[in-house]
Amino acid sequence: MNALAATNRNFRLASRILNLDSKLEKSLLIPFREIKVECTIPKDDGELVSFVGFRVQHDNARGPMKGGIRYHPEVDPDEVNALAQLMTWKTAVVDIPYGGAKGGIGCSPRDLSNSELERLTRVFTQKIHDLIGVQTDVPAPDMGTNAQTMAWILDEYSKFHGHSPAIVTGKPIDLGGSLGRDAATGRGVVYATQALLAEHGKSIEDTKFAIQGFGNVGSWAARLIHERFGKVVAVSDITGAVTNPDGIDIPALQWHKEETGSLKNFSGADAMNAEDLLVHDCDVLIPCALGGVLNRENAGDVRAKFIIEAANHPTDPEADEILSKKGVIVLPDIYANAGGVTVSYFEWVQNIQGFAWAEEQVNKELKRYMKRAFLNMKSMCQTHNCDLRMGAFTLGVNRVARATMLRGWEA
Ligand code: GLU
Repeated sequence: MNALAATNRNFRLASRILNLDSKLEKSLLIPFREIKVECTIPKDDGELVSFVGFRVQHDNARGPMKGGIRYHPEVDPDEVNALAQLMTWKTAVVDIPYGGAKGGIGCSPRDLSNSELERLTRVFTQKIHDLIGVQTDVPAPDMGTNAQTMAWILDEYSKFHGHSPAIVTGKPIDLGGSLGRDAATGRGVVYATQALLAEHGKSIEDTKFAIQGFGNVGSWAARLIHERFGKVVAVSDITGAVTNPDGIDIPALQWHKEETGSLKNFSGADAMNAEDLLVHDCDVLIPCALGGVLNRENAGDVRAKFIIEAANHPTDPEADEILSKKGVIVLPDIYANAGGVTVSYFEWVQNIQGFAWAEEQVNKELKRYMKRAFLNMKSMCQTHNCDLRMGAFTLGVNRVARATMLRGWEA
């Protein structure tokens, strides 16, 4: 099932549980605006190449639309649509005053030079600058983009609209970025994990983790788990996978990856097949990479008792069913990875206030938002007698539906 079909299905299930009016259901499902642009740039050798860029603005009932921009070869309109919709529910789950959006360019950032990436980002910004805005739609990093990408967007946007630091979040600290934003998604994943494990009388200490993905989210999650004496027994990324049943020394692995650009030949662990990571022997599995990685092919073989969805839509509905039958508890993406957008909100607030918070304040507030959302999600599970995914979906969808009705959507 593709990402959009899966997301729509979860939304419809939540809408039925909430007994939403069918017209309201339809209106919440259809995106506010879908933008598709062609971005042509000269490569470093002078050859002209074109890429297709998207920005889907899904809903703005609760505030400006918010979401990352992804650079990846598999970016397609359906996927961006699904991710934009997930942002709408995600911002509502953590109760920050935003709607949802997502963007992407179908490209392979690893195959582009820094100056090609800069030209591509500037052309994309030129094409969408009049459709985004501090109070309309605020982009952020996602897969394949980072603080530097945000700096280029900020600079290009400011040429048209004047200096506007709050137009993007996840930007460099020197341009108004927030302390703690880089680690925020991974840190939020750890707070979410702590909340779930505590409910089951467990803690991170001595719990065994397998982590798929060692980019921004996966490496921060691994590092913060390691600091809390959790045992990270397996890690994978696109360069390979490593395992050590006694726990991997994560700072050493990070250093190795920085030095060599790969997980290969790391002396502190054994190499393993990256595909086996999802079915590796562990207590907690944290997918931090692409969507749809857990499906009917492999869900039956998962050995973890808990899955924390640090990636967006890593589990498809068929896998959800199989995992639920096996008694595996899945902490859903729209809650588990909401730490990133929550600190994006803090960054935007600081930019608007013209005042920078200390890192301790950012982390303290992030913890408070994640704890509150966990309790709100659990209370929806109790009210509607549903699993955590439907708890999160009903929480998010209900908040957006209420805002939509209060604004008066029928006139
Ligand atoms: N790309 C991140 C996400 O999927 C962060 C979005 C943001 O900060 O706006 O949640």
